[in-house]
Amino acid sequence: MGLVVSGKELSQALKDAMKIEVAALNTQYGRVPHLAVVLVGNNPSSISYVTGKSKACEYVGIKNTTITLEENCSELELLSLIDKLNNDASVDGILVQLPLPKQINSDKVIEAIAVSKDVDGFHPQNVSNLWLKKKCMYPCTPKGIMKLLAKANIEVGGKKVAVLGRSNIVGLPISKLLLDQNATVTICHSKTQNLAEITKEADVIIAAIGKARFVKADMIKEGAVVIDVGVNRDENGKLCGDVDFDNVVDKTSVITKVPGGVGPMTITCLMENTIEAFKQKMA
Ligand code: NAP
Repeated sequence: MGLVVSGKELSQALKDAMKIEVAALNTQYGRVPHLAVVLVGNNPSSISYVTGKSKACEYVGIKNTTITLEENCSELELLSLIDKLNNDASVDGILVQLPLPKQINSDKVIEAIAVSKDVDGFHPQNVSNLWLKKKCMYPCTPKGIMKLLAKANIEVGGKKVAVLGRSNIVGLPISKLLLDQNATVTICHSKTQNLAEITKEADVIIAAIGKARFVKADMIKEGAVVIDVGVNRDENGKLCGDVDFDNVVDKTSVITKVPGGVGPMTITCLMENTIEAFKQKMA
């Protein structure tokens, strides 16, 4: 049976350490890091993510301001708010909860966030720096996955890694971070043919496709490391990942679970990025 690496436990340990760091920063600078979260509309998943972020801020001691705009707000209204937050010296990090309503161009909004306050790491400047291996704000989910792999002492150098999914927020950046650690990465997507042939060869599988329990036991090799990024509801409304955990776990050497795996690490890395943005500003 594979070792189940708990993102919840690692996240708790990291948050406890950050709590101490934030208190020390407060003593040193007379204020704590400040994260502004912008929520547009009332999408239940978005509200739940934003609530999770607020709770983590509260625990760590980061100041959190959540600003909610109406579902039908205009792009201009949102851009004006971002401009205001960019120019507010008391704000260190800005996060706009995605997805945004149809009338708003998300790319335009992300580009409007000051690079120094882009704690999600989605700004084109941060993305380009990531690919050019320059200093940048790492996107939270890939950063969290790398921490989970490190926690489980997984050395990816020279290993075959199959990344399932090629999104800008998970698949592509995690592929780059793994490549930087000398993994041999195969990026798979919905048009990939004979996907199971690729996954069966992989030493490490990162599943980020958003399909409930898609990765089955016969798709992985004995002793594989499996990181499940997916957040889905099954036919009974139960939260589950992209991996058929119960049937896959015995074949793995290391695996993460949903919930309690990658999810908590994403929020924890957001806390870390906010502290980082604050420290860079104060330096
Ligand atoms: P996304 O933007 O919808 O991208 C999904 C990717 O999966 C696409 O590249 C798509 O291929 C690929 N794909 C879809 N069906 C496939 C199939 N049958 N075989 C192979 N590839 C397939 O999703 P995302 O934002 O990256 O998120 C992926 C999952 O991770 C979702 O469940 C999401 O909720 C979850 N997530 C979790 C966290 C966390 O903190 N735990 C953070 C972010 C996302 P094409 O490019 O060809 O369409």
